Formats: sequence, C-alpha cells, structure tokens
Amino acid sequence: MYITKKLSERKCIALIAHDHKKVDMVEWALHNRQTLAKHELMATGTTGKLVEEALDRPVKKFLSGPLGGDQQIGSLIATGNIDIVIFFWDPMEAQPHDTDVKALLRLCAVWNIPMAADRSTADFIITSPFMNEAYDAIIPDYNGYLKRNVGK
Ligand code: PGA
Repeated sequence: MYITKKLSERKCIALIAHDHKKVDMVEWALHNRQTLAKHELMATGTTGKLVEEALDRPVKKFLSGPLGGDQQIGSLIATGNIDIVIFFWDPMEAQPHDTDVKALLRLCAVWNIPMAADRSTADFIITSPFMNEAYDAIIPDYNGYLKRNVGK
C-alpha cells in the first residue's frame, strides 16, 4: 500500500508566490535564510529572481508561473525531485493559470509532499526537526493503480 522514500538532510525546496504575496515570500526567505542556506532552492521565474536577489545566492529558476513554471515544478514533483513546496498563493485574486495552480496542489497530495500555502504553515515546516535530518517519507504505492483492470 505504501512505500518509503528517503529524503536526505539537504532538501530540494520549491518556492512560488503570486504577485500580491511576493513581498511576503521575500521577507519569509530573508527571515529563514540560515536554514534555507542548507537546502537547494528552485522557484518559478519571477519569485526565483526576487529570492535570488534578496538572499544573494543561486536559485534554480523555471518559467514564470503563468507561462508554464507551475507545470515545470509539478513535473519535478511527479518525478520525485522536489521534497517541499512553499507556495504563497493569493486566495483573493483570480489567476490566469488557475488550472495549473490546482494541478500543482493536486500533485503535492498525490506524492505526499509537504506544502505550505501560507506563511504560518511555512514557518512550521521550516522549523521542523526533519529539515536538518534525513527523513523517510511514506508515500502511496501506486503499483496497484498501474496494474488495475482496464478491461483487457
Ligand atoms: P512567478 O510565478 O514567480 O513567475 O511570478 C508565480 C505564479 O504565479 O505561479
């Protein structure tokens, strides 16, 4: 039913912030810069540029979210290359890429990825003892699903 995925001490963290949440994201990243320094950072294009400038350290940047960046991050979640998602999304404004946002949130649930949609949750995640040690994530074993009877 479940399999274990070993996360190393150094986690791969994806950062995404909608426009009205970008100031929050930069403040949060600055506040947590010491902890973040121990991990690899990836981000959608504009968020990544802002965090990179603020922290003065490299951030792997994808396309801007509405241009496909959320989907690029989703693809890395599906292939097991992202451990944590910090996604400050804006619940007060319709997004042109709403479907992509929803898809990304769904993939976090599919792969049991810790995902913060707001700053408090991000604070709880970043201060977790698991941030500094290896962690065995228990994720669903989808082999049963792959072997399902589809009528053949
Ligand atoms: P951005 O994308 O960081 O390129 O602005 C964020 C988003 O809206 O998904």
